[in-house]
Amino acid sequence: MLKVKVEDIELEGSLSVKFKDKITELDGCNIEADVKFKNMGEFIQALGHIKGKIVLECDRCLNKFDYDLDIDIDETYAKKSLYEDYSQELELSSGQFITDLNGEDEIDVYDLLYQSVILALPNKRVCGINCNEGLFVSDEDMEVHDERMDVFKNIQIKGKG
Ligand SMILES: [Zn+2]
Repeated sequence: MLKVKVEDIELEGSLSVKFKDKITELDGCNIEADVKFKNMGEFIQALGHIKGKIVLECDRCLNKFDYDLDIDIDETYAKKSLYEDYSQELELSSGQFITDLNGEDEIDVYDLLYQSVILALPNKRVCGINCNEGLFVSDEDMEVHDERMDVFKNIQIKGKG
């Protein structure tokens, strides 16, 4: 667990945190991150950068591959609960969120990094531009019954006769 105290950020005006470790919840995820927490009165702004790697599984060939992470962090925390009628995260503009600390006196930096990595992962995971049909074709894939092919076969047979 890596946490910063809201009190310390207020005292110093800003606080920089460096992180170089694994995100154990994510397969093969190893990152280096730099986050600066800045006191903004009612808010705390977190600006930073994550660089690293994560192991993903290709949607097509199911091979595991390294995916490079290069993520900007831009997160705002509300010290007091401002949006009680809304959900925990209120979207201000694309990519910018306000996270309600709900009176918590600490910010969970590890969780911030974890969430940032999750959000940055692609929906479509493909190991590379050369992966089209996949190197791994299972027997099941080969046995897929395609009716259009049956029609084609019939025409050929008739043509021969
Ligand atoms: Zn692939």
